[in-house]
Amino acid sequence: MRLGIRKKDTVVVLTGRDRGKRGEVLRIIAGRDGTAARVVVSKVNIVTSHEKPRQTQPGGIQKKEGSIAVSNVMLLCPKCDKAIRPKRDRLQSGERVRLCRKCSEVIL
Ligand SMILES: [Zn+2]
Repeated sequence: MRLGIRKKDTVVVLTGRDRGKRGEVLRIIAGRDGTAARVVVSKVNIVTSHEKPRQTQPGGIQKKEGSIAVSNVMLLCPKCDKAIRPKRDRLQSGERVRLCRKCSEVIL
């Protein structure tokens, strides 16, 4: 399945503890056969991990974003501010873009 979501997109969380939260996609973790892709979204699904001190960081409890299934987020249209499933299209220049189904805004 092709993902409608890319790095730096703003997405809305649909389920779970952070439902309704918005954030920027920081990382996309491609799924393998039979495994859904996951995304890491800024300020969403914060998990704490206990790190040992290293030369680069002091250690202690670190808060960071955990990944969530890509099916649990939806792309946010920057124009009409709604969660959408983008439609794929191609510009006259041949460039592939995504379109908002609601307001037809082009989302690069
Ligand atoms: Zn829109």
